[in-house]
Amino acid sequence: MATENIKEKCGVFGVYCPGEEVARNTFFGLFALQHRGQESAGIVTSNGEEFFQHKGMGLVTQAFNEKDIDYLDQRGGFISIGHVRYSTSRESRPEYCQPVLHEDNLVALAHNGNLPSTTRLEEFLSKINAPFSHLNDSGMMTEAVRYYLKKGAAIEEAVIEAQPLFTGAYSLLMMTKDKLVALRDQCGIRPLSIGKLNGGFVFASETCAFDTIGASFLRDVTPGEMVVVTENGLVSQQLQLPNPKLDIFEFVYFARPDSKIMNRRVFEVRQKLGMLLAMEVPADADIVIGVPDSGIPMALGYAKASGIEFTEGLIKNRYIHRTFIQPEGMRNQDADLKYNTIPEVLNGKRVVVVDDSIVRGTTQERLTASLRKAGASEVHIRIGSPPDRYPNFYGIDTPRQKELIASRLSVDEIRQFVGADTLRFLSYKSLISATEIPEENFDTSCFTGVYPIDIKERASEIKLLLPV
Ligand code: AMP
Repeated sequence: MATENIKEKCGVFGVYCPGEEVARNTFFGLFALQHRGQESAGIVTSNGEEFFQHKGMGLVTQAFNEKDIDYLDQRGGFISIGHVRYSTSRESRPEYCQPVLHEDNLVALAHNGNLPSTTRLEEFLSKINAPFSHLNDSGMMTEAVRYYLKKGAAIEEAVIEAQPLFTGAYSLLMMTKDKLVALRDQCGIRPLSIGKLNGGFVFASETCAFDTIGASFLRDVTPGEMVVVTENGLVSQQLQLPNPKLDIFEFVYFARPDSKIMNRRVFEVRQKLGMLLAMEVPADADIVIGVPDSGIPMALGYAKASGIEFTEGLIKNRYIHRTFIQPEGMRNQDADLKYNTIPEVLNGKRVVVVDDSIVRGTTQERLTASLRKAGASEVHIRIGSPPDRYPNFYGIDTPRQKELIASRLSVDEIRQFVGADTLRFLSYKSLISATEIPEENFDTSCFTGVYPIDIKERASEIKLLLPV
């Protein structure tokens, strides 16, 4: 069934800029968004008459070489969209590389997010006799837009017609031969920002991609807004009333620390999370270390607020990808490949280890064993977010609920499982206060089980738990 395949967390990037090498800019934009997806990368460009595309599996630099970019840019394109995709390695399938582009070249589409239910789209596609069993959510959305384009609608009209079928989270970039369209769901679950580049416009999942190509940040796409760029400039239409609910996990783990989301620098929020963690659950220890890379800003905050020295005790192999989604058997080995310890720093020390989250518990279990082997006399784990107890249905691939260790075990049982002397999580209240954004502007489902966009039939996969 199509819904089995829709476990994506991705990055999108787009450019409308005559006179610029749009494919090269998109390549560097995607490169900056690599952390959002390492399974495949793709770029589609248009010169106003024709589409050109290149896609490949793996990292951006594996999918593209210099010749691929030159090929695209020598076609005189002035519009380009690109995509980096992540799904589970078990579902590593070339046909899911984005941007989605049908051979009739009517529209190309790049999607970050996830539709927990595709029932409405499936019903629509059945009604119009469009085959869909081979498509995932992004493919079905493209089919719906194509249907209206084939009937003669302009892209703006086609999007307005098709949007009610998109029941879930989406930050979308679409292009026709002469227009670039950005669309964000009413809740704005995934980020999407607009930048300016040499008289043209750029769009990116995260602002760090603008800095990479020398573009300047203009504003975020408003939840529920459609932005269309043509030769006449940028036109905005608010299609739905905004009901902002950004996935708070973007601040905890997912986004790059140098990005700005909802006007907040992610690094500063993470450092604050670490400071609040130190105040809320102090530890009697000699040194603070962070789990690289995502735990470092929180560890710095923890050290700052506690006065305990921050040092590097764990080194990450920078050439290894995020290890989160791996076939079961490989995960333990992966943690060992990814991290190594510095015994001279750790030997005889009472160590505070700060990380952003515990999901299955595998990382902390392996790390605690390594730290002890390196001579740490005590290991005190501090996590800069509350227990993660509910799966994400909106585009971050977290496991089934029963695989989330905090949905099965109490905090003390998790401590025993990972083998730490103490283990503490940040409170939900402090998580919200570190962002300085009102709670109602967030999707907090992974901590609370409250899903702001109806997850429809997927609700049967969830068991509501008593608050911790
Ligand atoms: P686990 O080993 O399953 O407990 O995973 C925890 C580690 O994965 C932490 O170090 C996090 O930084 C990282 N992590 C948390 N959420 C995700 C996610 N959605 N995708 C990839 N990595 C994650």
